[in-house]
Amino acid sequence: MKKVKRRANAALLLAAAVLLGMGLYVWRFAAQGRSWVNFRANQHIYSAGSSVSGTVTDRYGVVLAGTAEGERTFSTDAALRVACLHAVGDRQGNIGTGALSAFADKLTGYDVLAGVTDSGGVVSLSIDSELNRTAYAALAGRKGAVLLGDYTTGEILCMVSSPSYDPETGFDGTDPWYEGVYLNRCLSAAYTPGSVFKLVTLAAALDRLDGLDDRIFHCDGSVTVDGNEIVCSGVHGDQTVEQALANSCNVAFAELGLEAGASALRSWGERLGFTGSLTVSGIPTTAGRLEPGEDGSAALAWSGIGQNTDLVCPLAMLRYVSAIAGGGTGRECVLLAGEKGAAARLLPASAADKLKAMMNYNVIYSYGAGSFPGLTLCAKSGTAEVGDGSSHAWFTGFLDDPGHPYAFVVVIENGGGGLRNAGPVANAVLQAAVERSAMS
Ligand SMILES: [Zn+2]
Repeated sequence: MKKVKRRANAALLLAAAVLLGMGLYVWRFAAQGRSWVNFRANQHIYSAGSSVSGTVTDRYGVVLAGTAEGERTFSTDAALRVACLHAVGDRQGNIGTGALSAFADKLTGYDVLAGVTDSGGVVSLSIDSELNRTAYAALAGRKGAVLLGDYTTGEILCMVSSPSYDPETGFDGTDPWYEGVYLNRCLSAAYTPGSVFKLVTLAAALDRLDGLDDRIFHCDGSVTVDGNEIVCSGVHGDQTVEQALANSCNVAFAELGLEAGASALRSWGERLGFTGSLTVSGIPTTAGRLEPGEDGSAALAWSGIGQNTDLVCPLAMLRYVSAIAGGGTGRECVLLAGEKGAAARLLPASAADKLKAMMNYNVIYSYGAGSFPGLTLCAKSGTAEVGDGSSHAWFTGFLDDPGHPYAFVVVIENGGGGLRNAGPVANAVLQAAVERSAMS
């Protein structure tokens, strides 16, 4: 009897172990099935790291990538394929931040009960592919980044990176124009900002310095800081802080940077998102750089005017000007249609309103509202000097217009003067955005 009892116990134990194992498996299947399916070696849904299931559309349902017989297909419109390449991705998975890689799990359409469906999932991007078309055409073969977003939701409506190529035909790898072509320059590049960084210096100055409104800044064309001559683009004479920004006076902003101090500039750079990596619907961006040196140093003066070793990711600039437009609170930028970015308070409402008024004054006093017909524009240009003698052209800002809540950033690599070169690209995309909003 003892023997039988022992055997029964052993059998019971075995049964319990089997049940436990099955339970564990079912639990793991339910809990981890999605990640098993999305394992990159699963050839049913992946080819070389790029999803081959599901559909990617723009915000209006225009299909940018689909499937046919288990193969990835793209739009039949070649210009659209090129303009949307970095938002969508490629067959080989070389563009890691493209939807086909970044949102691959959503494209499988996996669920616990049905498993992987044949048609896969649909990813609706927040971009309007027609705005991408306009932006890419406006760049006209120049390298750079164009971003336009809705600052009330954080949705990115236009995201173009140049150079680009047609994912159906590829590109000539021996042509140096295509260097860095896989990089989405909107999210994964950081550029010397030049004068657009004066908006950051101003945030620090408004926080730390009293009586800015009553100050007169004097410019004789240059100033010497710690034995280092900082040259201005002109001889601006006496100017208010508004005029100093509109003149983009280096002398005044070197002074503001020095007076605000290195720790203020560093902490405001951090607080406004210019030094850390941000995320856009889960996609990490490249961190910028800000090394303002010590108080009283030439490095600090140069940092205050956006030179020194300062580097800024275009997306971080979009997020900042969006927050200025939103009275100090912006939305985290997102790339999926209908998604609302988390609210992000970047600066006090009083500072945001002051910056907004000054950015509008820039347009009226310096840039010429006539170059931006019909737009209630607030903007800042930048002409960032880089090592080889040419300059990066920047133009950033927003429309102070509740019906058209658009913020934007244009950067053209080695593109020359910001207003003259990046300004018209911004105008083209803004005009198209306003026009498109009337249609929808
Ligand atoms: Zn000056």
